[in-house]
Amino acid sequence: MKFKQPTDKQLLKYIPLGGVGDVTRNMHIYEYGGDILIVDCGIGFPDETMPGVDYLVPDVSYLEDKIERVKGIVITHGHEDHFGALPIILQKLPVPVYATKLVRGLIEVKLEVNDMLKKATLRTLDPDQPLRLGNFELEFFRVAHSVPDSVGVLIKTPIGNLIHAADYKFDFTPVDGQPTEVQKLARYGEAGVLCLMSDCLRVEKPGYTLSEKFIEESFEREMRKAPGRIFITTFSSNISRLQQAVNASAKFSRRITFASKTMETYFLMAEKLGYAHLSQKQFVPIKKAQAVPDKNLTIVGSGSQGEPEAALTRIAHGDHKYLEVKEGDTIIFASDQIPGNEEAIRRNIDLLTSLGANVLYTDIMNDIHVSGHASREELKLMLGLVKPRFVVPISGTPIMSKLYRDLVVEMGWKKEAVFVLQNGQTLELGKDFARLGKKISTRHIMVDGLGVGDIGRIVLRDRKLLSEQGMLLAVVPVDATTGKISGKIEIVSRGFVFEKHAQDILEKCQKIVEKVIAKHEGRMKDLSFIREVLEEELEQYIYDKLGRTPMIIPVLIEV
Ligand SMILES: [Zn+2]
Repeated sequence: MKFKQPTDKQLLKYIPLGGVGDVTRNMHIYEYGGDILIVDCGIGFPDETMPGVDYLVPDVSYLEDKIERVKGIVITHGHEDHFGALPIILQKLPVPVYATKLVRGLIEVKLEVNDMLKKATLRTLDPDQPLRLGNFELEFFRVAHSVPDSVGVLIKTPIGNLIHAADYKFDFTPVDGQPTEVQKLARYGEAGVLCLMSDCLRVEKPGYTLSEKFIEESFEREMRKAPGRIFITTFSSNISRLQQAVNASAKFSRRITFASKTMETYFLMAEKLGYAHLSQKQFVPIKKAQAVPDKNLTIVGSGSQGEPEAALTRIAHGDHKYLEVKEGDTIIFASDQIPGNEEAIRRNIDLLTSLGANVLYTDIMNDIHVSGHASREELKLMLGLVKPRFVVPISGTPIMSKLYRDLVVEMGWKKEAVFVLQNGQTLELGKDFARLGKKISTRHIMVDGLGVGDIGRIVLRDRKLLSEQGMLLAVVPVDATTGKISGKIEIVSRGFVFEKHAQDILEKCQKIVEKVIAKHEGRMKDLSFIREVLEEELEQYIYDKLGRTPMIIPVLIEV
């Protein structure tokens, strides 16, 4: 007997656009019966092969001809790597966004800054109310993480139920008093779960992640010891950690100032919505913070990941508008190092230390930060509660995803039940099977300043070459009618040789230009040919003379 293959519409599809084999840039697509649901829409961080790039956003080209099928974007929590790409993505996909009250507030701040708030459709999620989006019926469960009001999603379809558990841990004493809703998870497990998409970032760590509760005590201990100002750095949206900095500071009569505008705006929004508290008396605007005695001041700011534009990085380089580091300052990195950012973070730590600060970070002091992610035993607890048929690790590097698969197998699942995917890889699910489908394109969309996606391989290659070898510019005025040189040839070096000390080289380059032009006088109309010959000849000379390969740019000006 032959079984009929399910048609495309009868399959439930899952496609990660970012956030699989990858810690940040989270964006996940679910497709069923022609409808599309998106979970999260975050930014990613550039690596060392992307000089000058501010951040990355997911590639949504797969969705561009399917916009009317997209029923909405659900945001799981208020971290930039889960919602930060909304201002850019909503321009391409103008669909409703669903988020819990605080997360919606943070999204509003982000959209407002980017002039997108009026154009966006935002809806508030109640974690206790189901939500129907097209063919998807959604339920939500609260999860403890490092920012309040975080949720996971139960996605119900006629094929089966899926659980999307983005960043979570099982903290029973979180800062906001809202632990992960274990009872809901157990209920979903009883009803049957076809596939679990689970955070796996901390799969390398045995046991349980420490409760958030311990941080406040560590902050207090350091404040008691500190001779002067305290600077606490974390993510701008890490409301819980900021609240702990505020609470501990209050006990030592320390006032709070924000070194980062975004962080201040996020925190004040959280306060307005009732998720945070900072009294007017304790708050001091950054402009007036100088007047506060060192022992009575706590500064909070971004830069925990070594981000180039963040407050702490600017302070480390001595170019923050209001703050300078001095002897007696204590700087606390209340954050984990996101894989890939280690070098930038190290650089900041060293710079700040050289400036006289006492820098505390998790490698030397493990209780000034606790992760917002589940350790091994908690990952097992999730699996044990929801008992999924299939599993997909998300939000982890390739090695973390693989270790998570080993953990699932250790608990008795077959290896084939765990799908270690790459971004763009479709997973097709039927009532009793899961299999790999097509792979779609997911390029790195790079954002630099106001430009989105206009930087590709060639620009990066040029930037890399310029940063390593510098450039040589040959400006040649040419008479349009005679084809002869009609003025002074200028040879300019930037990052290649110091002009004053390399006059002989520059003069020789001038001579080479004159010779090439004289030799090819008859072909002066063919500018691209002349440029090419100039490039070759200069390149050869410089390589022979110095063994270097700067970028050579001949500029022919017709006068
Ligand atoms: Zn998170």
